[in-house]
Amino acid sequence: MNERNRAIFLDRDGVINEEMNYLSNPDDFKFIKGSIEALKILKHKGYFLILITNQAGIARGYFSLETLNSIHQKMNDILAENDIFFDDIFFCPHHPDFTGDCECRKPKPGMLLQAKAKHGIKLVESFMVGDTLNDIQAGYNAHCKTVLVLSGYGLEEKERINNIMPDFIHENLLEFAKSI
Ligand SMILES: [Mg+2]
Ligand SMILES: [Zn+2]
Repeated sequence: MNERNRAIFLDRDGVINEEMNYLSNPDDFKFIKGSIEALKILKHKGYFLILITNQAGIARGYFSLETLNSIHQKMNDILAENDIFFDDIFFCPHHPDFTGDCECRKPKPGMLLQAKAKHGIKLVESFMVGDTLNDIQAGYNAHCKTVLVLSGYGLEEKERINNIMPDFIHENLLEFAKSI
C-alpha cells in the first residue's frame, strides 16, 4: 500500500480522558482539560487520529466489551458535538495472565502495525502519544516518534525512564498539539 498518511496515535486513559484505574462506567469518562481542543488542532494539521488503547479490564472480567463500546460511544458523541472524530479505534482486550500472550497489547506495536496496514500510515512520520512507558515503547517498536505527556500517570512514569527516551515530553495533549 502507498503509505502517505501521517497519524497521531493516542493512548486513551490519561491522555484523552482522566485516568480512573480500569474505567468501567461511561459516567466516569471525563475528558482531560484541553484534550478536545488538542484533537481539533491535530486534525486541522492533517493527521489521522487513531486511538490505541490497552483494555485489559475485559480480560480481567472487570467490564464487558459492550461496556467498552458504550464508553467509546459516549466519547464519540461528545467529540461529534465538537465536529471531531477519531479515524479509528484499536483496543487490546487481552492480558497475559488471563488470556495468554497477544500481539496487540502495548508495549508491543501490533495495534500500530494494524493501523498502518489498514490506513496506509507512514509510521516514521507519525507520533505515538501516551502517559506510560508502555506507550513510548510501543511507539518506539513501531518506529514512530514518541511523546510522553505528564497527565495521567505521566509524572510518575517520567521518573522511571531508563533505556528508551521519549522523543518529546509535554505537559498534556494540548501542549503537544500546539508544538507541532
Ligand atoms: Mg494511559
Ligand atoms: Zn491483545
